[in-house]
Order: sequence, then structure tokens, then C-alpha cells
Amino acid sequence: MSLLRQFVNRMTVAKCLRSVAAALLVLLPIQVLAAGSAVVLMYHRFGEARFPSTNIRVEQFEAQLKHLRDGGYTVVPLADVIAAINDGATLRERAVAITIDDAYRSVFGVAYPLFRADGIPFTVFVSTNAVDEGRPAYMTWEQMREMAAHGASFANHGASHTSVIERRENETDAERLVRVSEDVEKGWQRLTEELDPLPGAFAYPYGEYDRPAADLLRDMGYVSFGQHSGAVGPLSDNRALPRFPMAEPFGDMAQFRTKVASLPMPALAVEPWDPIVTTAKPSIDVTLGESDARFGELACFVSGQGSVKVGWYEKERKFAVGPEKPFARGRQRVNCTAPRNDGRYLWFSHPWIVQPTQGENP
Ligand SMILES: [Zn+2]
Repeated sequence: MSLLRQFVNRMTVAKCLRSVAAALLVLLPIQVLAAGSAVVLMYHRFGEARFPSTNIRVEQFEAQLKHLRDGGYTVVPLADVIAAINDGATLRERAVAITIDDAYRSVFGVAYPLFRADGIPFTVFVSTNAVDEGRPAYMTWEQMREMAAHGASFANHGASHTSVIERRENETDAERLVRVSEDVEKGWQRLTEELDPLPGAFAYPYGEYDRPAADLLRDMGYVSFGQHSGAVGPLSDNRALPRFPMAEPFGDMAQFRTKVASLPMPALAVEPWDPIVTTAKPSIDVTLGESDARFGELACFVSGQGSVKVGWYEKERKFAVGPEKPFARGRQRVNCTAPRNDGRYLWFSHPWIVQPTQGENP
């Protein structure tokens, strides 16, 4: 059987299982859903002001940690979140996991002393080639081993940090997927040689994925994280779990409080699910499950356009949303929130990657 055929078969089975699971979950009391949710934060650099889009200033970061401490949150190891997703293990109310991508040097120099002082667990998604090449911007394996002894865990971010959707010239889709799987395997291999890494977790470089690569990662046994916002819960699609990106532009404390308090929006279906689109005005249909949120007050915001209209097919059950003006090419996003009576919000996000149509010059 061809590699691709195997993917298709597994995908169909997984799809059926997911529908059954979704149907069953609708019947569960809302408390059960809330007990299984967590917020995953994503950082890159700390106190490296030269890179504002991926950096968090030290005073912002300290204020965030203080809020987690004082606000009734429990920072849990990412392994706990993965166990909840894979096996339905219960998470504490207000569980938050901290992830850091790429293994930059400022993790060791700036963040680690703060984490260690407070006994806070955290997970670094390492792109192993950069470390192996000894690039000065990255931590050394020795530094990571020291952190591992004090609450850090390490997970797979691929070896080369190549986007999984990147296509080489004259490469077929099957060849691309083989190349991606080899890069993921190599990353895992190097991690296991140097550390005792966290199995079964992958973070997409640049947060980019498409359906074939997402299915491949799932078939390789990974739950995979993107860079679109939102809380994680039992209905989350483990091929592309949301994380809240934390960087200077999103470092505002009011925003941070709302994000860490957020709960997953029960999206039973998102169509089309694949983020890759060749139209500048994409749209998705989202089917909602049961919730005590006020879906009548659902508000959606699109990259660079602010608030956009939501079109309801069925009141508080199924809606369509997309940009009102054409997107530029590249990574775009929609974020939707709905309030609950306790002041917390359900959060849903979907990424789009706008690509040129075939034959068009990229
Ligand atoms: Zn990265």
C-alpha cells in the first residue's frame, strides 16, 4: 500500500472516531469540559529587545508570572496537558502550561533563573540543528541538561526548523511528506541522544501546517502545537493545538489576564479545516457544541482588519466567518470569543496561509 493511501485510510478512521467522540462529548456536563481545559503559552525570547515580535521584556514577563502566582493559576508540565488530551486525564482548574520555541540563549540567561526560583515547570521545543551547529544565539546541550534537572522538559521542533508546508522545486507531495518525517525523526533522535525529552509533542515551525503534514505528525504519534490563540480542551484537534503567542505586542496585562482565564470554545467541526487557501477572502464554517457561554455575543477579529461580521446559519450553533477585505499572502488569522457570566471567555482561533494559485508567480 502506498504511503499516501495509508494516510487516507487512517484519516477516515480517525475522522469517524472524532465524530463519535464529539457526539458523546456534547452529552457531557459542562463542568467536565472545563475540568479538562488548559491554556498553553508560547514564548521565544526574553529580554532581547532587538527582536520585538518574538521577545518579551523582562518586566512584562515578571508581571505575567506574578499574575499566574496571584491569580489562582497552576503552571503544569506540558506532559499533563498532553495526558489530558490523549487519555482524558483531569487537569486542575486554571491550568496553564508554558512553552518556549527554538531554544534561544535568553531562555537560559533570563527566563530559567525566574522559573527556577518559583519552581515553575516549562517546555522548550528545540530545533536541534541550530544547537548542533553551536550557533551563538542558541543554548548549548549542557545548559539544557542543567535546566532539565530543575523543571525543564524538551520536545521536538524538527531538526532544521523548516516549515512543514514548504515545497522544494520539483518535489511531489509524497516526497515532501517523507522529507518532513525524516526531519522530525532526526530532531527526535538528537534530543534523545542529548536529553531525556518529552515524547509525543511537536511544535510546527512558524506555526505553519496543512492537512497532509498534520495527519502525518498524528500518524507518527505526535500531538502538534500551532501558534494560533486559544485554550486547549477535550474537543481540540490534536493535530493543531492552539497556544497564545507571548511577545511585546501581546504583552499588555489586561490582554494577558483575559487570555490565561480563557476556556476552549467547543468547535465540533471547522470546515474547511486546512489552513492553506488560494483565495484572498477565505471563510470557515464552525459548528458549536453545548456551552453556558453567551454565543449571541460571539465576536470575531481578523488579522489587520479588526472586528468582522459573523454569519449565523443556525442561531448559536453554526456560523461562518472570514475577512471582509482581501488578505495579503502569508499567515493570517481569525480569533473569536464568547463571554460567560463569570467574566471568562471561550476562545477559538483559526489560521490561514494564503498562497498563490497554481501557475501564478509566487
Ligand atoms: Zn520555531
